[in-house]
This record gives sequence, C-alpha cells and structure tokens, in this order.
Amino acid sequence: MRAHIITFGCQMNEYDSHLVASELVSLGWELVDSVEEADFVLVNTCAVRGKPVEKVRSLLGQLRKEKERRGLLIGLMGCLAQLDEGQQMARKFGVDILLGPGALTSLPEALKANEKFWDLTFREDVLDYIPPPPKGALSAHVTIIRGCNHHCTYCIVPTTRGPEVSRHPDLILKEIEMLKKAGVVEITLLGQNVNSYGKDQPGFPSFAELLRMVGGMGIPRVRFLTSHPVNFTDDIIEAIAETPAITRYIHLPVQSGSDRVLRRMAREYRRAHYLERIRKIREALPDVVLSTDIIVGFPGETEEDFQETLSLYDEVGYDQAYMFIYSPRPGTPAYKHFQDLPREVKVERLQRLIEKQKEWSYRRNLEWVGKKVEVLVRGVAKEEGYVQGHDRGNHPVLIPAHQAPTPGLYQVEIKQATPHLLFGEVVGATVPGPIPLPVA
Ligand code: SAM
Ligand code: SF4
Repeated sequence: MRAHIITFGCQMNEYDSHLVASELVSLGWELVDSVEEADFVLVNTCAVRGKPVEKVRSLLGQLRKEKERRGLLIGLMGCLAQLDEGQQMARKFGVDILLGPGALTSLPEALKANEKFWDLTFREDVLDYIPPPPKGALSAHVTIIRGCNHHCTYCIVPTTRGPEVSRHPDLILKEIEMLKKAGVVEITLLGQNVNSYGKDQPGFPSFAELLRMVGGMGIPRVRFLTSHPVNFTDDIIEAIAETPAITRYIHLPVQSGSDRVLRRMAREYRRAHYLERIRKIREALPDVVLSTDIIVGFPGETEEDFQETLSLYDEVGYDQAYMFIYSPRPGTPAYKHFQDLPREVKVERLQRLIEKQKEWSYRRNLEWVGKKVEVLVRGVAKEEGYVQGHDRGNHPVLIPAHQAPTPGLYQVEIKQATPHLLFGEVVGATVPGPIPLPVA
C-alpha cells in the first residue's frame, strides 16, 4: 500500500499535507515520491487563483488515465475540494475520496469505505491533531488558527476554509515542544490571519501573548504568517521587539495603494492606516525586513489607482513582494458583480510593478553586504557549488558548499547581492541559538 501526496498552494497546505501524510503512515501506508509507484494519489489543492485550479484539472486528467490503465485510488483535498468547481472535477475524473480543508481527519474512515467517500464538514478534531515532527527537519510549520473572518471581495478562502477557529494554546505549545526535541530550530506559526489568534475563544491568549510564550521556549527562530494590517496592533509589535527569538521579518499584505480599490476589495483599512502601521513597525524594529502581497488589475483599477500602488511601494520600500494579477474566482462577490479588466492591461501593470520590486529588492539587498547574518542552511542550491539557506530576514542566501557541509545554523558574512539573492561566506561555526541581527 503506497501513497503519493501532491501539494499545491500555501504553507497551510504544506502543513495539512504533512498532517495527512502522518495519518497515512500510522495506517501502515508507505509514502512514495512518484505517481508511478503509488496505489493512492492524494492531491492537496489551492483555489485562490485560476492557475492552480487549471493545474489540478490537467493533473486529474492524467490520474484518470492511470486509473483506467492499472487501477488507482484518487483523493482530492484542500480548498478546491470544498467548492462546486472541485466537486464537478471530482465527478468527471473519477475521484474516490474528497476531503474539504476541515475534514482531513476523516481520511482513515475514507480509506476503509469501499465506495466513494466525500466529507466537506469542519471537524473539531482537525484542530486537536498533533502531527509527529517531520523526520530530520530543521524548520517546521505549526498552524495556530484556521479559517478567515474577513470577506475580501476577491477571495475564496472564507468559503473554502470557513470561519476563524483558534487552536488551544496547550496543543500549540505541546506540538512546538515535540518539534524542539526533534531538533527543529525554526518554527513558523501559520494562519490566514495570525493576529486574530485567540479572539474567537474566551480565555485564550492574544497573538501577542502567544508570540511571547513561543518565543520563550528556546527555539532559535520563531516566525509567523500571515498578518492582516487592520489588526496588526501595537502589542504585537512590542512582543516582537521584546522577544529576541522572533525574527524581524514581517509579511503585511497591502493588496493596493489606492483607497478606492481597497474599499472595493472590502479591505478594512485605508492607505493612511497601513502606512502608519509601517511607520510604527520601523520605529520599534529598525532592522525589520518587510514583504507584502499586491493584486494588480482589480476590477475598476484605473491608471491613477495603480500609480498609488507604485507610490505606496516607494513609501514603504519593501524588501520583497508577492505580486498577483487579479484572478476572478467563481463564488466571490467581485466575480459576481465586477467586470474584469482586459488581460493586457493587467499584464502590463504587473510588469511595471515587477520592475519596481526588482529595484527595491536590489537596493535593500545591497544594504546587507558586509554585514553578518545567521543563515539556516537547508540543502544544496540550484546554482552549482552552493548550498542555500535563509537568514532571519527571510532572504535566500547562497554559501559555497564546502563551507557549510551539513544543514544547520551558520554565521555568515554577506559578500554580494543581486535583486533576488544574497551571497555569503561562513565566518563562524554553527551557532546553537539566535545571534542579534545587525541594524540595517
Ligand atoms: N490571509 C492573507 C491576507 O489576507 O493577506 C493571505 C491569503 S491569500 C491565500 C494569499 C494572497 O493571494 C492574498 O494576499 C492576495 O494577494 C492573493 N489573492 C487572493 N485572492 C486572489 C485573487 N482572486 N486574485 C489574485 N490574487 C489573489
Ligand atoms: Fe482572503 Fe482577505 Fe481572508 Fe486574506 S483576509 S484569506 S485575502 S478573505
């Protein structure tokens, strides 16, 4: 009995894939690296944009052929599985097991059933499930909150993942303790909006309190993803500033620099609020590394609106940005009510934004040349003769392979920068804990 898991999408999906992988292993399945070797192929899907949905469609077409040829169990899980769009695909391509993002713990039951098994419920025990530490991992994700209570008009996530539900802090701390004992040196706390943590459950700590708790557990690096600008409050900034283990890397998606667009997106803040949060963050954390998400070509976005996004980019001077062309998603208010812009307008704006991002990333990366950083080396880089890791600001760093022969934490001096990469040389042995970052 051999299973192969294919994962699309975000870190929350990576975490969920690890969760189901650990379920499969507990049931006696062997995990394999290819479809050809597998008796069961489980596809963990993303529905945020059209592209990953189309990738899943073509993958399911291939899997159906494989099923007809030699018999194969096919499973579909994650955000797409929760939607009509995914369920229609499941019928068309002969999917046997369909699990929504809240039903992952139904997998054992699904595998016992000798017929098609669909579960789209949000089970409480998904929150309680503590997957065993991944073997040999130095870095691991821990989901702290599931779902989303916001209703951004372009976004399908509130439909697929349901409302916000925080995991019990005792479970989170227990999971992290196990990861620490297994040798993990970097934890990323995950949620669609981590700063909403605790708000749905009376008596739970706030996100700022949780950060302090996790930051005090002796893990060298603690990171978190994703934050919402509307409630990235002062107490969170203070918790980061006062807890050395928490990395000074903040991903704060802005989506647009135009108030008109933000209003139509139903983002609950405006440009001035966002910039005020950035000012506060920079004041408390002078060495902070900032990244963002931006959607270009949202319905009705004018050239003037887009210019406001470009000017906001200049005001913040982001180190990094994840930039997306607006993708109309069935089931969202924007899809139902707003006319999409012509593709060539969206593509042209994206290109200009990418140019801006490259300029700023290069400028920011150059500021690190000559400074010492702590790099978590994870493995061999694509570039021959190098290993790759990332520093506490989430910059990818390449190091000559002979200088860092095993994965781990290294003290590195940055020698060179490109818009996408830093190149460094090891100047100190593997360090057991965090070293202070130099001021940028
Ligand atoms: N919860 C996080 C937040 O609010 O920032 C991020 C969740 S979402 C899965 C990740 C990113 O995908 C968003 O920040 C947004 O930029 C992008 N996104 C979501 N829906 C989109 C759409 N319909 N078209 C293009 N990009 C989209
Ligand atoms: Fe989607 Fe908005 Fe929720 Fe983020 S906050 S997951 S963009 S609805």
